[in-house]
Amino acid sequence: MVKHDAIIIGTGQAGPSLAGRLAGAGMDVAIIERKYFGGTCVNTGCIPTKTLVASAYAAHLARRAADYGVTIGGAIGVDMKAVKARKDAVSGKSKAGVESYLKSLRGCTVYEDHARFRSPREVAVGDKLLSADKVFINVGGRALVPKIEGLDRVHYLTNSSMMDVDFLPRHLIIIGGSYVGLEFAQIYRRFGSEVTIIELARGLIAREDEDVSEAVAAILKREGIGVRTGADCLSVTRQGEDISVRLRCAEGPDMIAGSHVLLAVGRRPNTDDLGLEKAGIAVNARGYIEVDDFLQTNVPGIWAVGDCNGRGAFTHTSYNDFEIVAANLLGGDQRRVTDRITAYNLYIDPPLGRAGMTESEVRASGRPALIATMPMERVGRAVEKGETQGFMKILVDAETKLILGASLLGVGCDEVIHTILDLMYAKAPYTVMQRAMHIHPTVSELLPTMLADLKPLQ
Ligand SMILES: Cc1cc2nc3c(=O)[nH]c(=O)nc-3n(C[C@H](O)[C@H](O)[C@H](O)COP(=O)(O)OP(=O)(O)OC[C@H]3O[C@@H](n4cnc5c(N)ncnc54)[C@H](O)[C@@H]3O)c2cc1C
Repeated sequence: MVKHDAIIIGTGQAGPSLAGRLAGAGMDVAIIERKYFGGTCVNTGCIPTKTLVASAYAAHLARRAADYGVTIGGAIGVDMKAVKARKDAVSGKSKAGVESYLKSLRGCTVYEDHARFRSPREVAVGDKLLSADKVFINVGGRALVPKIEGLDRVHYLTNSSMMDVDFLPRHLIIIGGSYVGLEFAQIYRRFGSEVTIIELARGLIAREDEDVSEAVAAILKREGIGVRTGADCLSVTRQGEDISVRLRCAEGPDMIAGSHVLLAVGRRPNTDDLGLEKAGIAVNARGYIEVDDFLQTNVPGIWAVGDCNGRGAFTHTSYNDFEIVAANLLGGDQRRVTDRITAYNLYIDPPLGRAGMTESEVRASGRPALIATMPMERVGRAVEKGETQGFMKILVDAETKLILGASLLGVGCDEVIHTILDLMYAKAPYTVMQRAMHIHPTVSELLPTMLADLKPLQ
């Protein structure tokens, strides 16, 4: 039995930083990784996909070169092997960075194997048994494989196996029209694949407002991506070289044949093979570890951080989990999960930046509210760039004047959203931004203009 002060299971977006803080505070820390250092974000999530988004954008812009008066001789080609090599280089550098950071961290021992609880204070790693008074679980999640008839008899892709693709799929069928599915859809369409998205809900990114969902669908359809929503009764079969998907929709054919199928219907936590029952750690019906506002599980001395606690599904929520745990344990600062404001981006082009409540949520809350919207066609910076798709929407509480939420779909909005987010964290009334002088020409310069034009939400 090897005794440590703290054990961290998983090197996702919270674990490595936590290891640094705990070791820096003089603790003897063990961190365990069974596969790739850096976890999903670094190896099969954010970093590689955004690298692919960048390659896809380059191809898209090159095809539009003439719009800008630029001449390119010959057809635009995409070298898929080079695209993958670029992606591997960027993500590989991050992975190596996490690994070397942890392996050179004083006071930290790295174990490379699968970890499993033996008791609340004991974790088995390969043939070793570790013990500690504090255990932090940062095991993340993986692609959810839905129950679809015939799926077990065909080859399908997930976000992980997509990372090995170094060829152009002839026709990529994507099952799932949410964040992961939409990013891959646009990436591969821009590389040159035929792409069809199949979504069970009535619209894409069903959690967003209808106008946002419709605008996103229009952007994707304009690029030639097939969108089939309200699709149920799916079944898949192999048909020669192709995979055919049968579906039932209000309109459109009831069969689509493609060369490849990508599953993007959601995630599930990596908690089923962790021996949680041996430690008595409670999970909810979907396998997410139950935690309180400080990310403590029901077992004293055990915390769950990152996607596996179901309180967030992003790199920034996982990193924020690290900050909350570190602040409460070492910083003498009582930080809570409920202090944070919902915020995320959808990295299609143009991106969708989201903060706080949607319009539907504001309506459902019943509070008096104000709303301002602006099409990107009215944003000078977007016009200059020749990228005017999308619109911006901001919601404000009519009584407190505090910003309730924003959906910004347009060029640069993945960055612009932070202006709104920081004002929300500052708990400052919208009038502060309305009176601020923003820089010309930017997308952000239109935010004060929008706020000067708020109307009651009908
Ligand atoms: C395609 C895709 C794109 C994404 N894009 C974005 C984005 O743009 N922005 C964003 O914020 N988020 C994005 N995400 C989500 C983001 O990747 C995750 O929210 C983020 O990685 C947080 O993960 P985590 O810290 O919970 O753990 P993870 O990063 O999932 O890491 C968990 C680690 O634990 C290890 N592990 C698991 N079980 C064990 C065990 N029993 N023993 C030892 N080790 C174990 C795993 O091998 C893994 O390395 C994306 C996700 C996907 C799939």
